[in-house]
Amino acid sequence: MEIRLAGITEESIVDGPGLRLVVFAQGCPHHCQGCHNPDTHDVNSGYTITLTDLFGYIEQRFAGNKILRGVTFSGGEPFLQAEPLGCLAERLKALGLDIVCYSGFTFEQLGAMAITNTGVGQLLRQTDILIDGLYRANERDLGLAFRGSRNQRLIDIAATLATGQITLWEDASQKRWA
Ligand code: SF4
Repeated sequence: MEIRLAGITEESIVDGPGLRLVVFAQGCPHHCQGCHNPDTHDVNSGYTITLTDLFGYIEQRFAGNKILRGVTFSGGEPFLQAEPLGCLAERLKALGLDIVCYSGFTFEQLGAMAITNTGVGQLLRQTDILIDGLYRANERDLGLAFRGSRNQRLIDIAATLATGQITLWEDASQKRWA
C-alpha cells in the first residue's frame, strides 16, 4: 500500500500537544482562501512511499527520540488517503505514539463519509485528536493553539465516539498560546 506525501517534519511543537513528527499528505480538494500549504493541493504532485517504508522510518525516529509524543497527519487532506493512513496510525499507536489528524472536513461530514468508506471510519477511530474544519481567513486567530481559525475544533475522538456527543479535547493550557 502506498501513501502520497508532500513531506515530513521530524520535530514540531505547533501541530498538536508535545513534540511530534508531522506527516504532510499530498492532495487537498478544499482550496481554502489563504491556505498556508497550497503546494499540497495537487493530488498528482509530491512523492509516494510504501506504508511499510514510512512506518519503518517513523519507528526509527521514535527509537532515537523517546520524547517524541506522537505523530500528526496534516496536509493536504489526510482523509483523501484514509485507508493507508488508518493502517499506519494503527501500527504507530501500537508503539505508544498518539495520533493527531487535521481535516478540512468536519467531524460530522467524516462520520457521514464513513458509512460508505471504511477507510475513513478506520482513520477516525485511530485518531486521538481531530482538528476539523476548513481554514477560514475571516475567522483567523493567531492566539489559537494548533489551528488557524476559530471555527476549527480540537475534538477528543475517543470521548466523542463513546458518548455520541462532540467532546472537545480539554487541556486548557494548550487551547491558546500563552
Ligand atoms: S484544508 Fe488545509 S491544506 Fe486544504 S486548502 Fe484548507 S487549509 Fe489548505
